[in-house]
Amino acid sequence: MKPRKIPLRKCVACQEMKPKKELIRIVRTPDERILIDLKGKQAGRGAYLCGKVSCFKLAKKTKALDRALKQPVGMDIYDQLEQDFIAVEDRFNAEKDRMDDEDDDDSEG
Ligand SMILES: [Zn+2]
Repeated sequence: MKPRKIPLRKCVACQEMKPKKELIRIVRTPDERILIDLKGKQAGRGAYLCGKVSCFKLAKKTKALDRALKQPVGMDIYDQLEQDFIAVEDRFNAEKDRMDDEDDDDSEG
């Protein structure tokens, strides 16, 4: 039996390494919008956060997304993302247990 390799990613707020499916991906799209990418398939540079609002708030406080996305993120965008984050948090946490970990390529964008 081969051990399965679980892809780990680091939360940009608390710096913890976690399996990808336990993290919410924030992406900066090629047209420079910043949004939450629940499915993890959106093209662009990504940053990962734990699926909890406390980590989002920490990222907002420390401007971790600015650094992770290599782009200044306005407070209005953080505010918008925070609302979206809260809106998807429950769904994300309910669904992550059911998700198959697929072996998708995550070209570190
Ligand atoms: Zn975290």
